[in-house]
Amino acid sequence: MTTRYLLALLIVMASPGATLAEEFSHQRIAPAPLLVPWSGTEDKFFGPSLTRQLPFGHRVAVPDFGEPGKWYVQRLTGRSYWMICNAFASTVYVGDESVLIVDVSSSVNPPDMLAALRSFTELPVSTVVYSHPHTDHNAGAMRLQELLAQRGVALRIVASKSAAREISIHQNNVAPPTEIVPNGRTAFSFEGRDFILGTPVASAHSPADSYVLNPDGVITYVDFNYPGRLPLAYISSSHDITGWVNFLRHVLGEDWDYAVLGHANVGYKRDIRQTFAYLEDLYDAFNTLILPDWSTGKSIGEAVQKNGPGLTAGVFWGNYVEQSTQTVALAVHPRWKHLAHSEVIRSHAYKVFEDVFLNYNPEVQSMKPQFDPIAP
Ligand SMILES: [Zn+2]
Repeated sequence: MTTRYLLALLIVMASPGATLAEEFSHQRIAPAPLLVPWSGTEDKFFGPSLTRQLPFGHRVAVPDFGEPGKWYVQRLTGRSYWMICNAFASTVYVGDESVLIVDVSSSVNPPDMLAALRSFTELPVSTVVYSHPHTDHNAGAMRLQELLAQRGVALRIVASKSAAREISIHQNNVAPPTEIVPNGRTAFSFEGRDFILGTPVASAHSPADSYVLNPDGVITYVDFNYPGRLPLAYISSSHDITGWVNFLRHVLGEDWDYAVLGHANVGYKRDIRQTFAYLEDLYDAFNTLILPDWSTGKSIGEAVQKNGPGLTAGVFWGNYVEQSTQTVALAVHPRWKHLAHSEVIRSHAYKVFEDVFLNYNPEVQSMKPQFDPIAP
């Protein structure tokens, strides 16, 4: 060990709050004990019921993580059902001759899913639609396809052009679609009824996000907002947060009553509006607290002065991201700490930081997405 190395080690050890690369610290997130489930006092809970339709505005009385392997089913409308197992949800539409399902998670055991379906319909499954190509939501379709093939049924699989491209690129073990629908807003037919497959933006949660709007006014879109809660940590690992917001603006512009969201409880339009208010608050905090010192170069100057000539771009950037994220998170936390998922505000601040830093020009006034609905 050289003297120079020892000296450097001593300097790092003496800096308060600094961590050596060899001992990365892990930030453990503990559930906040005082949070009220969902949005707290105003939500009404119902069911789950196989026969009675969910009263508009109600949530289904099921836990976040139910009994492992157990399907919980709630009838939403005349023909539509919400089903959830192991925290992954599917939407079911019962036609006159067969059943259409949106999403079949990798965690699904197809015989169990078919048994759950038989609790409310004797009709066979004919069609699966993909909300997006992520394997956690759709890898189970391949096993379902194999099981149905043994019974002589060729499963129809509908997906967007972008989803088909992503599946092909990743060779990701999701059954390829048998029917590819153009991006944009396109109708496809199921037993003579029109369903809308909307794939309105190029990049949001994934590069191939669709919403599926059925004739009963039930929409399915997955890995976006959480009803009565803040988003998932890292905003569901989404690619592009402005795209994520724009996708939801298109969803908000459609005509629907109930939303199936992939993991969480049944959602409503009011949930998107609440999520938008939160996102806008994060963008505003970045613009007020981080942008002025960044766009003038003050932040870089300060870091160089503090760290001396040994500062590398990698370490500067690492610290700058961490510090900016912390500043934005602390600023918005008092206004949102009453909602579940507020434990992971820091990760939301990180994603917004990334989006606004990389995608917005500081010389232009509007440094955030728009939040108004986009009509079809
Ligand atoms: Zn996903």
